[in-house]
Amino acid sequence: MPFAERVKTLAMEGAYVTFARAQELEAAGRTIIHLEIGQPDAGTPAHVAKAGMDAIAAGHTRYTLPGGLPALRRVVAEDAGRRRGMRIAPSQVLIGPGSKPAMFFPTLALVRPGDEVMYPDPGFPTYRAMIEVAGGVPVPVPLRESEDFSLDLDAFDRLVSGRTRMIVLNSPSNPTGGVMPPAALEHVAAVARARDLWVLSDEIYARLVYEAPAPSIAALPGMAERTIICDGFSKAYAMTGWRLGFGIMPEALAERVELLLTHAVGATATFTQMAGIEAVEGPQEPVETVVREYRRRRDALVAGLNAIPGVSCRTPQGAFYAFPNVRTLGKSSDWLAEHILREAGVAVLPGSVFGPNGEGYLRICFANSFANIQAALPLLARAMQGI
Ligand code: PMP
Repeated sequence: MPFAERVKTLAMEGAYVTFARAQELEAAGRTIIHLEIGQPDAGTPAHVAKAGMDAIAAGHTRYTLPGGLPALRRVVAEDAGRRRGMRIAPSQVLIGPGSKPAMFFPTLALVRPGDEVMYPDPGFPTYRAMIEVAGGVPVPVPLRESEDFSLDLDAFDRLVSGRTRMIVLNSPSNPTGGVMPPAALEHVAAVARARDLWVLSDEIYARLVYEAPAPSIAALPGMAERTIICDGFSKAYAMTGWRLGFGIMPEALAERVELLLTHAVGATATFTQMAGIEAVEGPQEPVETVVREYRRRRDALVAGLNAIPGVSCRTPQGAFYAFPNVRTLGKSSDWLAEHILREAGVAVLPGSVFGPNGEGYLRICFANSFANIQAALPLLARAMQGI
C-alpha cells in the first residue's frame, strides 16, 4: 500500500512483540514469568483510584480544555517545580494522555526536515520514531556501561553538529536504569547553551531512584528556556492504563503544543485528570514504599544475575530495569531472549530492540513480585548455561 514516507520506518515497540509471544505460550498452557513489560506490578493506590471513580460518579465525564484541567496544571506546576528546585508556571504545563504526547508533539513542533536530533542508544524506541515522523535525522549517541550507562560524552561531542536541533535525554533510563551524574548534565547543558539547542528530558522515572536523586537538566542555569520535561503518572503512581502524563516547556512552545493536542487528541480524560490531582496532593507513602520494595528486588536480581557465568550486570541506579551484559555467551540478544522464553518460561527483552548499541544485553524488569524474581533466577541460570 502506498503509505506516506513518514510512517514507513515505524515498528512496533519490542516489549509488545515479546509480550504477545509470551501470551501465545500461555494460551498453549505454559506458565510464564513476565519480566518484559515495563509497568508496576502493584495496582494504582486505592485513594487515587477512588478519586477517579468518584469523579465519574459525580458526572465529570465531559470535555475539558485541551491543555488540561487548570487545577491539575496548577498542582503539577507546583509539585514538579518543587521537586526540581525550579519555578514553573501552570501555563508551562500541558496535560496529555500519557507522557508520550509530551515528547511527540514538542518534537513535531520544533524539528524541521533535515534537523538532527541526538538521542541515547540503547534508548526508549519512541525517540527514534518521533524524530523520523517529524522528518528529522536521528543521531544515536552510545552510552558507557563502565559509567553506569551514562551518555558517552566523547561520542556526544563528536556527533553534535551545525545541524543539531535537539538532544533527547532520559535519566533514569529505560532500558539501562542509568542515572546521568550532575557533571554529565552540566556538559550537555553547556553544549546546548553554546549552540542554541533544545533538550527534551524524559524524566518519567525520576521518582524511582535508589542511590541519589536524578537531577533535572532543566534546573541548570539558562536551561529552562530550552528544555522540555516529559513526566507522568504511569510509573510513579502505577497508573499506566489511566493514560496521564505532562510536559513542561517554555510558554511560547506550550502554546504551539496545545494546538497539536487540540487537533490530535482533543483532551485527556477528565476523570483521569481528577485522579491525577489526588495522586499529587494525597499521601506520597505509596511511592516511597514501592521504591523501597523495588530496591530490594533490584538487589536480589542483580546479585542473582552476576552469579550466572558469562553474565555481568551493573547495579541500576533508577527506573526498574536491569540491563545485564550477556555478550560472552556468544548469541544474539534476540536469540537469547527467545531461548529463555521457550526454555525457562521467563519473558525478557533483547537489548537490540532499544537500538543497535543494545545488542549484547537483555532488559529484565524488576517491577514484579519478589517471589517471581526469586523463581525466575534459577530458571534464567539454567537456560543460559545450557547453550
Ligand atoms: N518514557 C519512557 C522512558 C518509558 O519507558 C515510557 C513507558 N514505557 C514512557 C516514556 C511512556 O509512558 P506513558 O506514556 O505511559 O507516560
